[in-house]
Amino acid sequence: MTNKLPLFIDGNFADSKTSEWLEVLDPSTQTVLCQAPCATDKEIEQAINSAKDAFIGWKETPPPERSRVMMKYQELLKQNQNEIAAILSKENGKTLEDAKGDVWRGIEVVEQAANITPLLMGETVENVAREIDSYSYTQPIGVCLGITPFNFPAMIPLWMFPMAIACGNTFILKPSEQDPMTSNKLAELFVEAGAPKGLLQVIHGDKKQVDLLIKHPDIKAISFVGSVPVGQYIYKTGTEHLKRVQALAGAKNHMVVMPDAHKKKTIDNLVGSAVGAAGQRCMAISVAIFVGGAKDWVNDLKSEMELIKPGPWDSEESGFGPLISKEAKKRVLQLIEKGKKEAKCLLDGSNYEVEGYPEGNWIGPTLFTDVSTEAEIYKTEIFGPVLVCISVDTLEQAIELINNNPFGNGTSIFTASGKSARKFRHEIEVGQVGINVPIPVPLPFFSFTGWKQSFYGDLHAYGKQAVRFYSETKTVTERWFDEDEDSSANLTINLE
Ligand code: NAD
Repeated sequence: MTNKLPLFIDGNFADSKTSEWLEVLDPSTQTVLCQAPCATDKEIEQAINSAKDAFIGWKETPPPERSRVMMKYQELLKQNQNEIAAILSKENGKTLEDAKGDVWRGIEVVEQAANITPLLMGETVENVAREIDSYSYTQPIGVCLGITPFNFPAMIPLWMFPMAIACGNTFILKPSEQDPMTSNKLAELFVEAGAPKGLLQVIHGDKKQVDLLIKHPDIKAISFVGSVPVGQYIYKTGTEHLKRVQALAGAKNHMVVMPDAHKKKTIDNLVGSAVGAAGQRCMAISVAIFVGGAKDWVNDLKSEMELIKPGPWDSEESGFGPLISKEAKKRVLQLIEKGKKEAKCLLDGSNYEVEGYPEGNWIGPTLFTDVSTEAEIYKTEIFGPVLVCISVDTLEQAIELINNNPFGNGTSIFTASGKSARKFRHEIEVGQVGINVPIPVPLPFFSFTGWKQSFYGDLHAYGKQAVRFYSETKTVTERWFDEDEDSSANLTINLE
C-alpha cells in the first residue's frame, strides 16, 4: 500500500480526512513514493487557528529564547543533512551532491535566524524636537504563509519559516505538491528542536488550498517563490486582500562572455550553470551572449556540454538528474522542437536515454546558436538543460539586450577587464550580478533581490528601509583569475 503523507497541524503529524490525493513520483522511475493529501477546508482552518493561538505566547517570547530554538534546529539540520538530502533527491531527482547544497543553503538561513536579536533592534533619535525623543521597535505581525516551488525543496522553505518565526510570527507552509516529503522532514526536526506546538504548520495541496490560504483574513503576510504567472496571481490576489506580499518569480538569466575572459574557466562555468540540476534553477544561465571574437568558442562549448550525462540521483556518474515530471519534459521537448525551426541546434538532447531507467524524464544537454531575441526559445523560461547563444559586437549591445529582457533575476559577465566588469555591474538592470561567477546566489545576510518580472512586492517601505522600496537592490559576487590559472572552476561550499 502506498504511503500517505501526513499533514502537520497543531504540533502533530496526522492523516488527512481528504478524499483527494496527489501522487508523488520518483522522476527517474515513475515509482509512486507517496500520496500527498489536498488538505480539506476544515484542516486548513484548524492549522490557521493553531498558528493564531501559538502567536499569542510566541510573540511575547524574548528574542534570545526564540534564537535558542533556531540554534538547536540548525544543529539538528546539520546532523541530519544527508538524510534530508536523500529524501529530497528521491522526490526531486537532483543528484545527491546538489541536494546537499540545497540543504546547506537552507541551514545558512537558520544560522541567520539564530542570530535574530541584533536584526530586530529599532532606531532612536533624541531631541527630534526640543525635549522630544523618538524611537522605533520591530514587532511581529502574526500568522505568515509560505508557498514554495519544486526546485529547491529544502532551501526555499528554509528561506521563509525560520526567519518569520525567529521574528516572533507563526507560519503556515504550503510546499510544492511535486516534492512535499522534504518539508515534512524539516517540520519533524523543528519539533525535535523544541519548537512549541503551533509555530509551524505544513499544509499539502495545490491551487485550491493556496486560494483558501491567500484570501484568509487571518493570514497577515505571504511569501511566494515560483513561476511568473502564479507569482503575479498570488501578488494580485494577496494584495487585493490587503496582505503584505513578497513574490519571487521566474527568470531568463544571461551570461556575457567577453573575448578577454579566461576561456576554459568561462566554458566550464557556463556548462555547469546551464545544465546543472537539469536547468531547473531560477539562477540557471539559459542565455550566453558572446561578444566579438568570443563567438569562436562555441564549438569548445559544445564539446564540454556533450560530456555531461544525466542520470539517477544516487549515481556518482550523473551530471544532473531528470526533469521533475513527464509534463515538464513534454513542455521542454516542445520548446526544443520550436527552437529547431527558429535557430541552429548544435546539440539535441531530446531523445536521451539512460540505461536501466526507461521511464525517467531525461533530456540531455541541448545547445542552440544563431538565436534571435524574437525566438520563442529566447523569450520563454525553458527550465530545462537548454542553452541558447547569441552573438553581438560590443559590451554595450550585450547590456542593452539584457536590459530589454523582461526578467531581472540574475546575470553574469566573464572578463579579465575590471573596466568592462565595472560598466556591466553599474549599468545592468538585474538584481543579482556575477563577475566571473556564474550563479551569484547571495547569502542570507543580503536582501532578496530580483528585478522586473522576476519579483513582485514589498521590501518594507518604512524607516531606514524606505530606500529599498524606492530603489532596487543589487548584490555583486566577484572573483578574478590569474592569466595562467587552469584549475577546476567549481564554487565549493563547506558542508561540515
Ligand atoms: P509554480 O509557480 O508552478 O508553483 C509554485 C507553488 O505555487 C507551488 O507550491 C504550487 O502548488 C503553487 N501553485 C501552482 N499553480 C498555482 C495556481 N494556479 N494557483 C495557486 N497556486 C499555485 O512553480 P514551480 O514549477 O514549482 O517552480 C519553478 C518556477 O519557480 C520557475 O519559474 C523558477 O524560475 C521559479 N523560481 C524562482 C526563484 C527566485 O528566487 N526568483 C527561486 C526558485 C524558483
